[in-house]
Amino acid sequence: MKFTDVLEYIALMVVGLGFWVLLIWWLVRFFRKGYKPAAPAVPANAASYICTVCNEKGHAVFKVKGSGMIEAVLWLLVLSWPFALVYSIWRRTGRLVVCGACGGQVIPVDSPAAKRLAKAAD
Ligand SMILES: [Zn+2]
Repeated sequence: MKFTDVLEYIALMVVGLGFWVLLIWWLVRFFRKGYKPAAPAVPANAASYICTVCNEKGHAVFKVKGSGMIEAVLWLLVLSWPFALVYSIWRRTGRLVVCGACGGQVIPVDSPAAKRLAKAAD
């Protein structure tokens, strides 16, 4: 067994394992008794954000990064599994704070840009 064979084997194991862990995690989440979509988590400082699109104030929510559609497609194409694994991990490395009303970008209320927005809205 050559060294490159070992590397290849390890890479396949990692990617394959990632696929099954993710698949099982999805299935468990989907079929769990009484499953209903969770209400979006609200950041503790939600009130200190204003939306740059609809000017909604204090209605910030957390959103998972990236797209579930892209993730699913990457996992469906066997050749893109390494990218799928990286993408899946990246999606779960942090959350975005977006507007709960329109999904637009939010900024802190006390920022200069927010003050300009508030002025324009008056
Ligand atoms: Zn908005």
